[in-house]
Amino acid sequence: MKLPFIALLALLPMAQAAADSFSEQDLKVARQAISRAQASDLAYELVASLTSEVGPRPAGSANDAKAVAWAQAKLATLGFDRVWIEPVKVDGWARISERAEIVAPYPQVMAVTALGNSISTPDAGINAEIAYYENLEQLKNDTSDRAKGRIAFVDSVFARSRDGRGYGKAVPTRFAGATEAGKHGAIALLIRSIGTDHDRLAHTGSMRYDEKIAAPIPAAAVSNPDADMIVRQLKSGKPVRVALTLKNEFKSGLQSHNVLAEIRGSQWPEQIVAIGGHLDSWDLGTGAIDDGAGIAITVAALKMIQESGVRPKRTLRVILFANEENGIDGANAYAAAHGKEKHQLIGESDLGSGKVFQISTNVREAALPALREIAAVIAPLGIELGDNSAGGGADLGPLIRQYSHPSVALAQDASEYFDIHHTANDTLDKINPVTLKQNVAAWSALIWLAAQAEVEFGPSLKK
Ligand code: ZN
Ligand code: ZN
Repeated sequence: MKLPFIALLALLPMAQAAADSFSEQDLKVARQAISRAQASDLAYELVASLTSEVGPRPAGSANDAKAVAWAQAKLATLGFDRVWIEPVKVDGWARISERAEIVAPYPQVMAVTALGNSISTPDAGINAEIAYYENLEQLKNDTSDRAKGRIAFVDSVFARSRDGRGYGKAVPTRFAGATEAGKHGAIALLIRSIGTDHDRLAHTGSMRYDEKIAAPIPAAAVSNPDADMIVRQLKSGKPVRVALTLKNEFKSGLQSHNVLAEIRGSQWPEQIVAIGGHLDSWDLGTGAIDDGAGIAITVAALKMIQESGVRPKRTLRVILFANEENGIDGANAYAAAHGKEKHQLIGESDLGSGKVFQISTNVREAALPALREIAAVIAPLGIELGDNSAGGGADLGPLIRQYSHPSVALAQDASEYFDIHHTANDTLDKINPVTLKQNVAAWSALIWLAAQAEVEFGPSLKK
């Protein structure tokens, strides 16, 4: 076909760029990996297997150990060069029972769930009036004594968005709300679930007590419809009383493991391209979108490269992190054990199976042309190039902050993710098999080209 001159000009920069950092052969392997990923059911099979055969796997639980054994066996079956585990000390937390009801003015049972790490209420429960706060800021700035002896209720609403940007803003309410409420004399904390759904299911998630707090208070989330119920009853002008009973269990000093696998590099084996997700999950669902998907995507991406039959120049490593949900212990253990190794690139998949729509990075200037070429290779998957100020996910945090390792983020469509996140609804049927493949395709081309690039990507520009 004869192209008009203008069209040829438009094609030129990309063709030229492609010739700069990668050989034709490397680009061909990347494109073949994309095709292979789009035809492969491996990722779906992995997440189906993990959620069906293991299910919920809170750190330190019997199921957590089962998940580690599951991962070791799967990775061994897939035939990577090396599969191994590394010990991670975790503190276990388990919910035993939970109940919340409005007892006045209009009695209603609510859907409630304890926040991870919350203490129990007294056995007889807590029965107290609600002190309403629109958000955490209002609670922090409250100079009155209205929370004293009451259950502080924080009503922050979390808005839906494609990139899930509201989540980071919402988390402090869950994570630190009990400390703030305790400082104001409250005897328990209830929050509106950090979720974008209208299901009558509460969203859990981790919280911590400030160590300086003399008397920690129990903390739980109610479902969005029940938060609406509290708000409506408050509008009656009558005091709203809630009875709350939580029973939770702590076990410190438990053993978990990071699970790792590698394809050994041929030219610079000591340089690592590392991607992964977290193997643990909350207890309420079966950990499909959080983070069975990330485990499946990153393991399958590694497999797509292995199936190319060509050995990468750098070592490709997949890390299945322990206890991301309630302590980031696996990430800290990996950083302590491997932080000093040279990492060419690190990446994390922890946002379900939603379609990747953007690639952004945090690499040194000199690596940007190569990254632009990688972006051009995955552009046909509907992925646009973002900027070079990517923030890492939770499991990359220690490697970026302490070691300035260069990182990549594949932004996923999270429009529906936070409907399900940390609820009993996190089950296999929420995985989209089509966009799951698109994730595998993007990661496989990306890690392959990162392993082949002449230029070193690190250190990152920002911590
Ligand atoms: Zn996660
Ligand atoms: Zn999570």
